[in-house]
Amino acid sequence: MEKTDVLVGVFDETDRLRFANRAFRAAWSVAPQEMPLWSDMMRRNYAAARGTIISSGDFETWLRSTLGRRGKTGFRAFETDLHDGRWLWMTETTQENGWMLCVASDITTVRVDERALRQDRDNAIKVDQTDELTGISSRRFVMARLRALTATSGEAWSDVGHVAVLDIDNFKYINDRFGHATGDAVLKNFAVTLQRLVRKTDILGRVGGEEFILILPHTSLAEAEAVIDQMLAAVRRSRPLPQEVSFRYTFSAGLAGARQGDDPDEVYRRADLALYAAKMRGRDQIAIDLPASPRLTQDPG
Ligand code: GH3
Ligand code: MG
Ligand code: MG
Repeated sequence: MEKTDVLVGVFDETDRLRFANRAFRAAWSVAPQEMPLWSDMMRRNYAAARGTIISSGDFETWLRSTLGRRGKTGFRAFETDLHDGRWLWMTETTQENGWMLCVASDITTVRVDERALRQDRDNAIKVDQTDELTGISSRRFVMARLRALTATSGEAWSDVGHVAVLDIDNFKYINDRFGHATGDAVLKNFAVTLQRLVRKTDILGRVGGEEFILILPHTSLAEAEAVIDQMLAAVRRSRPLPQEVSFRYTFSAGLAGARQGDDPDEVYRRADLALYAAKMRGRDQIAIDLPASPRLTQDPG
């Protein structure tokens, strides 16, 4: 591990570096006993113009888009270039519990002639997987993850997690009262506020307008509710308009269970029906549709 030039790192479910060999630590300037969060490691390397080359002018925008993909698929591989001139082939393997193994090999001298073409292709894929306004994942990316989650590969009809549709309350009023540009600012604030609470293997995307979808793979109903409760509280607390300090907003959520073999559109429809129930009950709350019952369950609260 200490002699090889292959870079090896292991991140835990909170995205903290828990193991890294010499080559990995050298590439991102991590001291031997240090265990930084991945986002902090990338941020300080960006500030010092070391480590990964990040061509985006705004680090936080790059981070939001990258966090939308990092750890969300069991396996990912991509090319990345470093400030020291090396070109790496990086693989990320993520377990169901969120722990991730990263292995990178030096491919500086491999297939150099087609590199620009491959970079253009990778950038086009990134744009396709990112929502332009908020910088989080696009509808196409999250719907593909939902299809992958429910695809039958093992035991049919076993629980594979939960899916939530999240919709800002009275957004039309916000637009009408403050204008479309302010509406856009609230949408961005919403995306950033939610993304801070999204766990490593959860997938958050904007499906259109002021409607978002959250996929919580391998998550129980109680855990999914706890995540969304935190989001409801964080959005209630947020004051996104500097010029209107008393302005606040809320959202509602519909939650549905997903099982292997489910039709993804049907799961989405059930979550959307639950959302409608949350709106009818007064907004700023969760409503749940359990997979076993086609009927909406009453929220005891
Ligand atoms: P409810 O609490 O029932 O969800 O009410 P609502 O007003 O949020 O719901 P409705 O779906 O009627 O309104 C959504 C509005 O969102 C309508 C549309 O003008 C606005 N909208 C859709 N996309 C965008 C966008 O990208 N930016 C802005 N600023 N507004 C948008
Ligand atoms: Mg709405
Ligand atoms: Mg809506």
